[in-house]
Amino acid sequence: IIDIQHLSKDFGSHRVLRDIDFSVNKGEVVSIIGSSGSGKSTLLRCINLLEKPTSGQIIYNGENILDDKHDIYAYRTKLGMVFQQFNLFNNHDVLSNCTVGQVKVLGRSEEEAKAVAMKYLKVVGMDQYIHAKAKQLSGGQKQRVAIARALAMEPDVMLFDEPTSALDPEMVGEVLKIMKDLAESGLTMLVVTHEMDFAREVSDRVVFMDQGVIAEEGEPGKIFNNPEEERTKEFLKRIL
Ligand code: ATP
Ligand code: MG
Repeated sequence: IIDIQHLSKDFGSHRVLRDIDFSVNKGEVVSIIGSSGSGKSTLLRCINLLEKPTSGQIIYNGENILDDKHDIYAYRTKLGMVFQQFNLFNNHDVLSNCTVGQVKVLGRSEEEAKAVAMKYLKVVGMDQYIHAKAKQLSGGQKQRVAIARALAMEPDVMLFDEPTSALDPEMVGEVLKIMKDLAESGLTMLVVTHEMDFAREVSDRVVFMDQGVIAEEGEPGKIFNNPEEERTKEFLKRIL
């Protein structure tokens, strides 16, 4: 569904991504692991064009979306993003957090947006909290609302950047459980994570990044039990 070819990203003279080739298939769950600074977030941010790639191609459904003539706004509505820090509107209630994008970006009516929001708030178990202000929620609840908000846009692909890293330990499980359910429902997901159990048990494929390149990728069983690359072995030894 997304096919990345020769993607590089420089910040000034610092090359953060080097010639990345990578693709995600429909229905696939891909986990991206790697040390801090290896370029995982930058890769996600290039995929949804929060950062402009320095060079390379992003082919989405057969079209190079980095072509000048391509409508990047239409493309971006097809990608849902969940951030480490939730990025909710704190003074707005749960329901309006989940409707505003639908109304403003997709042009849905208020009524339709509410119905769609309720559907996904149920999926994440937050439909009892629609009138609570975002700032009143726990971290785990905020992240569940952020997931519902992204799902309400009915994206083709969901991108998660360390969705549980900012949570207190007792709230990590509730968010991972929802992500696991979404994965099993057939959603296409690209997940940057430090949760190795999630990467191992839920993903179809694990990508290990090191210093701006994909050092190794494969099925979780291979990456975790039988990695080929020395730097993958070293990373896993440090983290497991
Ligand atoms: P972490 O696990 O800590 O989140 P990461 O793998 O997500 O790390 P990135 O955030 O993608 O790593 O950063 C990769 C490199 O790019 C780092 O050296 C970082 O300092 C640099 N970098 C990221 N964003 C910018 C920016 N906007 N301007 C300059 N340098 C940046
Ligand atoms: Mg990061």
